[in-house]
Amino acid sequence: MPQKILIVDDDELFRQGLSLAFHGDYDLYTAEDAETAPGMLENDGPFAVIVSDMQMPGLSGIDFLRKAATEAPDTVRILLTGYSDENTAVRGINEGRIFRYLTKPCSMEVVRAAVADAAEEFGLAEERARLEVELENCAYTDELTGIDNRRRFFEKGQEEYARAQRYGRPLTTMMLDLDHFKQVNDTHGHAAGDAVIREVSARIATRLREQDIFGRYGGEEFSILLIEVGARRAELVANRLCHAIAEAPVDTDAGPLDVTISIGVSELVSTDTSLAQVLARADEALYEAKAGGRNRARTAISNITKIKA
Ligand code: GH3
Ligand code: MG
Ligand code: MG
Repeated sequence: MPQKILIVDDDELFRQGLSLAFHGDYDLYTAEDAETAPGMLENDGPFAVIVSDMQMPGLSGIDFLRKAATEAPDTVRILLTGYSDENTAVRGINEGRIFRYLTKPCSMEVVRAAVADAAEEFGLAEERARLEVELENCAYTDELTGIDNRRRFFEKGQEEYARAQRYGRPLTTMMLDLDHFKQVNDTHGHAAGDAVIREVSARIATRLREQDIFGRYGGEEFSILLIEVGARRAELVANRLCHAIAEAPVDTDAGPLDVTISIGVSELVSTDTSLAQVLARADEALYEAKAGGRNRARTAISNITKIKA
């Protein structure tokens, strides 16, 4: 898709000249004064480049570019003036944060070259922003399952932990671990193992609420934080999750595989001093679930929880 360019100039001949010169290269918009142009920013944007004349009846080019710099900061701005004037150039740079400053009369080729540079600058900035988002996703997302990685889980979890602790709100953690998972790898291969991890993750994700935090803790272990949920309700959730995994085999290239998970549940108590502490109790409860025969959930008992109950 061609990039959008906005030309703001009261000189009709100049606008027409540029329209001809740019025809086919860009998606060109023109305005004859700086008063109609701001509306176009909103209705027709985002523009890659704005070329604005300085001297126009009504609002000046700098006034408009200043506005554009605030309202559409990503758009690359070029200022044209009828005369070489250092003061205007300085104001354009400082107030309109312009990319180029051109003095009229100038050839269409000069304007063309400046717009091409500006359009490239816009494209590069877009690409940078896209890469930043991608990089952030990589840093926070588990590649195999697409859910939060351990680091992200703790970042989000830390906030919720602090909030719940501060306001005395319920919060429950779970540690989940696939049962006898080593056998899946050993018998059916690592690829089948990966498929199982992905499917287990997907089944769990669809059964949690939007606000719950779900992360791949490591290997075949997952962690969950249920917000505004106490241990009793969390137990029900945990049992449902065990059931959701055990009820239907997981399809893999090695055929359908029966899979089960074990879960340890632990709710926040007022004496907890860190999220890690709550998770450590969930981990102990997970051990009990394993020792108790697997494919089940166990809840950590805490004295304070018992008193409250
Ligand atoms: P338990 O029921 O006691 O949890 O037994 P287990 O076999 O699941 O426990 P163990 O911790 O001994 O084995 C976990 C296995 O998970 C070992 C490791 O090879 C496998 N594993 C960890 N991460 C991955 C992964 O990303 N992909 C695959 N395919 N396997 C993984
Ligand atoms: Mg494990
Ligand atoms: Mg395991």
